[in-house]
Parts: sequence; C-alpha cells; structure tokens
Amino acid sequence: MILKGWIHEIRDLGGIKFLILRNREGLYQIVLPKKKVPGEIFEKVSELNKEDVVLIECEKKESKAKDFEFEYLPSEITVLNRSETPLPLDPAEKVSAEMDTRLDNRFLDLRKRKIYSIFKIRSDLLRYAREFLLNNDFIEIHTPKIISTASEGGTDLFPVQYFEKKAYLSQSPQLYKEMMMAAGFDRVFEIAWYFRAEEHNTRRHLNESTAIDLEMAFIKDEEDVMETLENLIHHIIKNISENCKKELNEIGVEMDIPETPFKRITYDKAIEILNDRGSTIEWGEDLGTEDERILGEYMKENDIAYYFIKRFPAKKIFYIMPDGKYCRGFDLDCNGVEITSGGQRIHDHDLLVNRIREFGLNPANFEDYLKVFRYGMPPHGGFGMGIERLLMEILRLNNIRECILFPRDRNRIKP
Ligand code: ATP
Ligand code: MG
Repeated sequence: MILKGWIHEIRDLGGIKFLILRNREGLYQIVLPKKKVPGEIFEKVSELNKEDVVLIECEKKESKAKDFEFEYLPSEITVLNRSETPLPLDPAEKVSAEMDTRLDNRFLDLRKRKIYSIFKIRSDLLRYAREFLLNNDFIEIHTPKIISTASEGGTDLFPVQYFEKKAYLSQSPQLYKEMMMAAGFDRVFEIAWYFRAEEHNTRRHLNESTAIDLEMAFIKDEEDVMETLENLIHHIIKNISENCKKELNEIGVEMDIPETPFKRITYDKAIEILNDRGSTIEWGEDLGTEDERILGEYMKENDIAYYFIKRFPAKKIFYIMPDGKYCRGFDLDCNGVEITSGGQRIHDHDLLVNRIREFGLNPANFEDYLKVFRYGMPPHGGFGMGIERLLMEILRLNNIRECILFPRDRNRIKP
C-alpha cells in the first residue's frame, strides 16, 4: 500500500528506526528494523527532516505498540518535497505555543491533529445546519456584503471606497432578509461573513466573522423562531456527537446533547438572578459580559447549558416587535456566552416609522428599508447566530480565534 503525508517524528534506536507519518486521517507508525528493510532505505531515514513530504510504499501489519493498532514496513520512501529547519512552529510539539506564534504560522498550526479536527467539525456543523434547514423548507440565499448604509443604525462599520461613492462592509443581512420576506420567499437562510469595526479585543469577538442567519414569515410570535433555533442546534449537536467521535477525541471534549425545548427565562428574571448575585445591573440595561457569565454559572448549577432570555425591554432594538414595555426579541446563551440574537420583527410600516423616531433616528435615512413594508409585508422573525461562537461553545474552546482559520482582530490582518 501507499501512504502519503508529512514526517511527524523520527526516532532512531540504532538497530531499529521509527517514522511517524501524519496526514489528515491521523498518525501512522512506520517501522524500520535494520535487518528487515533494504539498507538504502534504512540509511535514507537519517537524512529526513521533520515535516518533509513523503510517499511511502509499505506493508501493513498489526502492531504491538500501545498507541498504534497497525504499523507499516516500508519497501520504498520517496521524498516529494523537503521542509526547511528549524521549523517556526512544530506541529508535533508537546508543549503549546503562544497564540500569536501559532497564528503567525497558522498553516503549520493547522497541521496539528487537534486543530485540524476543529475545522473538520466546523465543516460538519455547517453541513448539518444546511441539512436541517433545507429539510425544513428553508431556501439558501446570498445577500450583498457591500452596502450603502448601516444595516442597524450602528456605527461600527468598515468603510470602503466604492468607485466615487462611500460604501461599507456588511455587519448583518438583517434588512435583506426582511426584504426576502416581502419578496414572498417565506423561509430563507444565509451562511456568510460579516464585518464589525468594534475596537474591543476580546476572546469572543472577531472583526470578521461568519454567521447562520435565518428569517421566516407568517409566524405566530418569536416562539416559532426559538423553536426552529433549538431544533437546529439539537440536530447539529446530535449529529456531531454521533458522527465526529474521532475528531472530538482529538480535541478531548465530550459532548452533551441538550434536551429540547431549551430553558426560557425572562429578562426580568435574569435581572433578579443577577441582582441576587451581586451585579449592579438595573432594569433596562443590556446584559454585560460579566452579567452573562454570572447567569451562565447560575444555569450550570442547574445543569443547563443552553437557555433563552426573552421579553427584553422594548427599547433594545428598533425593528423588534414591541409588546408593552417589553419586546419580542430573544437571545440564546450557552454557558454564559451569547450565541444568537433574534426575535419577531415589526411588520407594520407606521409602527416601524414611529419606532425609528423613538430611537432618535431619522426615517428619511431608512427610505429603502421602509419601502419594503408598504406593499404587503407578512409577520416575520428570525435570528443571527455566530458560527465561531457556536463552535467555541460546543467544543468548549476558550478563545474564538480557535474557530476561524485566519482570524481578523484589532491587531491582526495577516496572514
Ligand atoms: P455581543 O453582545 O456578544 O457583542 P451582539 O449582541 O453585539 O453580540 P448581535 O448583533 O446580536 O451581536 O449578532 C448576532 C450574533 O452574531 C451574536 O449572538 C454572536 O453569536 C455573533 N456575533 C456578533 N458580534 C460578533 C463578533 N464581533 N465576533 C463574533 N461573533 C459575533
Ligand atoms: Mg445580540
């Protein structure tokens, strides 16, 4: 048989040499007992460098080694390409490197079994998400990422020069998703990247991130959207847990499949819990990072990983359907970190105009958006879920940068 890959490790015990070969399937032990392999192959091994790319013709045998089920006796070793030494980062290293060194040499970092496994699971996560959504009658769409005005009235946008005009990179597909509801597509989702010029540099924010966004029409209220979301997450986690055992093992994480329906608490209840636990948050304020963490702890004590917070104060976001002093928006948090925001949107044109005014914004700046609501807009709602946030929580990684190949943060725009 033929094995292709990288030289992970070379061990020379005199009368016997070992090569550990690595490729995306795993590690292979190549054994070279002096007496059993041709002399020139035995010698050639001494000239190999770690990370050389090789092709090995070999015979597969059962192994007595405790780490390997099989071992391979080579009859020919062809070097396809050499690696320079020393390596800026050793994919076989036993001690972990600093995050910056790892990211500066990300292509080598990604050769590590554990790191590769994160991205294999990321790929499967998206496959299961698509599978669930397509099977539930959603249509996959793609909306523009170069936009002329802010989607949510926010200020954290990256400007781009668009010929003679000023444009921005999209921070959310919100307005376009809603336009698709007016277009009669009923159920849409988008998997795409978004750009936020937020200056903070935290372990859970990226300046370029990806998200699963969804919008659905003819809903009764936000509960319809929440039900879709919890079923989507359940489907993703169940499938990863059943089909990605090898990768989960490499990462060293065990997965609990959360039961549906997820726990729901009101914003009022959250404030009560937080105040009980020493937070100074007052009714009406946004939950800060520390508040989310405390709430996560409270849930953990009750064996709950995934929970919704709903019935936020009406002044949270202008386009969310108000309901007295509350609104029909929700967040889904996992272990003290927000992974999704969503809600029922306003579909009535005049109510939307009033809300825009109440938020101190000028309806004239929202003309393109408002037009969509004047010619038959059904009741609708949806959510946006950060893919890196979800993956980070599923795999219990402590830095969001682990979940994206080439992170963009406040200090990093390369590689
Ligand atoms: P946070 O309060 O955690 O900064 P947000 O409420 O500003 O998030 P939303 O505008 O609600 O974020 O975006 C929807 C989802 O997109 C979030 O729940 C999160 O999963 C993800 N997300 C938002 N901002 C970022 C970011 N800077 N980096 C990575 N993911 C993000
Ligand atoms: Mg949010």
